[in-house]
Amino acid sequence: MKEIVILGAGYAGLKALRRLQASKGDFHITLVDRNDYHYEATDLHEVAAGTQPKEKITFAIADVVKGSTTFEQSEVKAIDRKDQKVQLSNGKSLSYDYLIVSLGFRSESFGIAGVADNALEMVDVKTAENVYQHIIDRMKDYASTKNQDDLKIVVCGAGFTGIELLGALEDNRKKFASIAGVEPQEIQLYCVEAVTRLLPMFDEKLADYGISTLKNWGINFLTGKPIKEIKPDTVVYQDNKETGATKELTAKTIIWTTGVSGSNVMEASGFSQRRGRVMVAADLTDPDFSNVYIIGDVSAVMDAKSGRPYPTTAQIALSMGEHAAKNILAQLKGDTTTPFTFKSLGSVASIGNTHAFGLVGKSAVKGYPASFVKKMIMDKSLLETGGIKEMLSKGRFDLYH
Ligand code: NAD
Repeated sequence: MKEIVILGAGYAGLKALRRLQASKGDFHITLVDRNDYHYEATDLHEVAAGTQPKEKITFAIADVVKGSTTFEQSEVKAIDRKDQKVQLSNGKSLSYDYLIVSLGFRSESFGIAGVADNALEMVDVKTAENVYQHIIDRMKDYASTKNQDDLKIVVCGAGFTGIELLGALEDNRKKFASIAGVEPQEIQLYCVEAVTRLLPMFDEKLADYGISTLKNWGINFLTGKPIKEIKPDTVVYQDNKETGATKELTAKTIIWTTGVSGSNVMEASGFSQRRGRVMVAADLTDPDFSNVYIIGDVSAVMDAKSGRPYPTTAQIALSMGEHAAKNILAQLKGDTTTPFTFKSLGSVASIGNTHAFGLVGKSAVKGYPASFVKKMIMDKSLLETGGIKEMLSKGRFDLYH
């Protein structure tokens, strides 16, 4: 019997697991994850802003482990591709015939000083819950300190994650204000962003729509202001490109969302990688090992059209999971693998619960109808990672009636 080991129960790993479990064959699967639950990483901003509880964006991995699959809850320490073994932090060593590496992302600080110590990250359920608790504590503090900085929340970076977080924070503005005992407009939301042309994946009109919606709600954008350092309760940004002069923005809540890298395990295990991402072969395997598939945020796949790797998204991770599973099933039968192809269905960013904007195919969608599309995307993702049961219990159906 062949042994297939899947590392990571995110979008890519669970999709691969479900595809393999749906097929018959002489193989056993071991799924490894540090948590006993899967989380929808695209919804972490809702837990961070407190608009959804963690239960809404998570489900038990046990719910999707079927048939001859074993679940091992442990941290992956290292992968030895030559010996075909995976070392876990619980002391176990797993041998494999086929390996799927889908270990996901971590926050990228780009070496900027003070980020780790003085900014909050939002990379998993724990850190997202920590952000929310931090905000609530600052609002409570304000009642006694009357320090304006307790009412200030700064989001660093205006990528999809930053924008979606700002939208969710806006949804809870009234709640924060009531805890602090102030008027909602006294809660100050800021976004500091390095570039001036935001959301380059969208045309200017569509990007402007999203940003102006947030601005009209009273969110302050400082654009073209690269962050140079995070000091305690202080964001230091470059204010003048020519002179390099910097300015400081003080706040008691500083959240870091300037981009992500692939898992540290890739570098630690000697993969040929850049920022934790490995440029894979056309069939999604490691260029040096045809039994090792690298998918999701640890993988870089070249987009022939743009000449650059595809951006890491949940959509491409799900698609890679499906493809890696199909290729392993082919290899088990002695067939050749097929190259991965990807056609984006578009991308939609939520701005709070009832607004969104983005592209579906090539068509722009905005406002309330777009938020309907966004909820359908979230439900589809739950269906693909967890199945019907998870979609029905965790899905977003509040707009369907
Ligand atoms: P990102 O790389 O897309 O955006 C990061 C932003 O931070 C950029 O605008 C960048 O200019 C800015 N930035 C970087 N360094 C900075 C600095 N020193 N100072 C100020 N600003 C700085 O990262 P992300 O938003 O975390 O998204 C990661 C990936 O996940 C992307 O591919 C994104 O498309 C995807 N994603 C998709 C969705 C969705 O489909 N709804 C949601 C979240 C994330």
